[in-house]
Amino acid sequence: MKPQILITNDDGIHSDGMRFLAEALAQIGTVTIVAPDRERSAISRALSLYHPLRITQLEKGVHVLDGTPTDCVLVGAHFILTRPPDLVVSGINRGWNLGEDTAYSGTVSAAIQGTLLKIPAMAISSIDYSEESFRRAARFAKKIGAEILSGKRLLKETTLSVNFPVGEPKGVRITRLGVRRYLTEILEKTDPRGRKYYWIGDGRPADRAERGTDVWAVKHGYVSVTPLKLDWTDFDFLARMKPIEWDGA
Ligand code: MN
Repeated sequence: MKPQILITNDDGIHSDGMRFLAEALAQIGTVTIVAPDRERSAISRALSLYHPLRITQLEKGVHVLDGTPTDCVLVGAHFILTRPPDLVVSGINRGWNLGEDTAYSGTVSAAIQGTLLKIPAMAISSIDYSEESFRRAARFAKKIGAEILSGKRLLKETTLSVNFPVGEPKGVRITRLGVRRYLTEILEKTDPRGRKYYWIGDGRPADRAERGTDVWAVKHGYVSVTPLKLDWTDFDFLARMKPIEWDGA
């Protein structure tokens, strides 16, 4: 039986990166796309709890959902595919998901939803929007995907986040998350009715490219592969945290 592969993204159904990804992954399994109907970047792991979700089939194996990337994985895995997928791949995102991006990223979150469903999952992002680079990243996803599907590479509680550099990569580095803190840029303007409005920009990332991090790898021309886990506990802090007394407050 051919492996079932579920593809989604957070850039929306019309994203070119996702199409290249689907094309490459179709060589190792049956691909089903379930993607948001619009741009949903930076929506993290949002779930649509208070409105119904509608799905439209655009062509064979291509479905559009009026929900979030996480909704797409849930609806896709449970209802669109005839059986649960063997692999979830999210991307190829337009732009890196490094360091603190990870917490905001809809791309990474969709992959994490796959992991939560106990399906091996990876997210893939690229700063290079050229067709050549997207195709290269898609071929790399195919290679890793094939290793996962053949059992050569086991992913249980771990989600892989892959980031591609500009141009042809010098190699692959297994990395940890680096520091990418944004200097937020928020515009304050006045609308035609005299009311203030605010527009959150991308901001300028203040990166710290320490060796061994995802930030370092992509800035030095390498593909970065970071294993992510869900446990956000700060174990260092936990170990030296002062007890908190219950005083009947
Ligand atoms: Mn995006």
